Amino acid sequence: MIPVVATIEEIRQSVRNARSNGRTVGLVPTMGALHEGHVRLIRACREAADFVVVSIFVNPTQFGPHEDYSRYPRTLDDDLRRCSEGGTSVIFAPTVEAMYPTGSLSTYVEVPGLSDILEGASRPGHFRGVATVVLKLLNIVGPDLAYFGEKDFQQLLVIRRMAADLDLPVVIRGVPTVREADGLAMSSRNRYLGPEERKAAAVLSGALREAVAAVSAGERSTGRVRQILRSRIESEYRARIDYAEVADATTLQPLDEVGGNRRAVALLAVRVGPARLIDNALLPEVSDADQVAEKQTPPGGRHGE
Ligand code: AMP
Repeated sequence: MIPVVATIEEIRQSVRNARSNGRTVGLVPTMGALHEGHVRLIRACREAADFVVVSIFVNPTQFGPHEDYSRYPRTLDDDLRRCSEGGTSVIFAPTVEAMYPTGSLSTYVEVPGLSDILEGASRPGHFRGVATVVLKLLNIVGPDLAYFGEKDFQQLLVIRRMAADLDLPVVIRGVPTVREADGLAMSSRNRYLGPEERKAAAVLSGALREAVAAVSAGERSTGRVRQILRSRIESEYRARIDYAEVADATTLQPLDEVGGNRRAVALLAVRVGPARLIDNALLPEVSDADQVAEKQTPPGGRHGE
């Protein structure tokens, strides 16, 4: 049985014991309601670290006042099973009081630029809550490595930037998105979907696949790629777009063209019934050589090929 500890003192003691035995320490922060995507993170962490801490904490400060904090699924028994599948050494499941003893903090981490656009524009204060709680967890556990999903692409960028800016002594690793058979990115929030909504939710990954295929087939205009995303999602009447964007994969700033030396990413937030779902896909790399060749191709195409 994996030990579950609830206080900062206990988790610090547990990590101290592991370290005194010469073990390296990894951290996988989660909000619980664990699924196969989380298990993948835990496995990746276990492959690189001797001692794996999984934190389970539904962090109130990253939810807006009208968001799903109170109804967010809490499934600790099931989570224990998932944690043991992945190879967890100890679970840190603090109470809100343990993390916020006076009810609020006076110190917060802000990552301006990255955290006020896209998800951050739709959910003001969200990344301030995420960055702050992740920094607290890193300070409490003190891991060598910490694992995050690429599913939350912008979150991963925010955390990487915070770790670099503040010289945190931890290696941040990203893990590719784990999907259901029809392409839907696994998410704790998929539990909100009814059967028909669940089918409709596959439109997000379908739209991303179309965008990737268009770039592979030579599309370079981000405006047109955006249009491909929008029209596919709008074809599903149960889906409502929050945003559908193509951006620089490092800065998340808007891009006019796919290509050059900047990698592009397509990012979606879509409401399907009661669930707000996000997903993303890196667009294929377009080398400078391809672009030069395209620019030199006459409008009628190449002859003699
Ligand atoms: P959450 O519990 O939703 O806050 O997620 C905890 C961690 O799991 C975050 O780093 C997420 O990006 C990651 N994660 C969530 N869903 C997936 C997925 N489908 N594939 C890979 N990682 C995921």
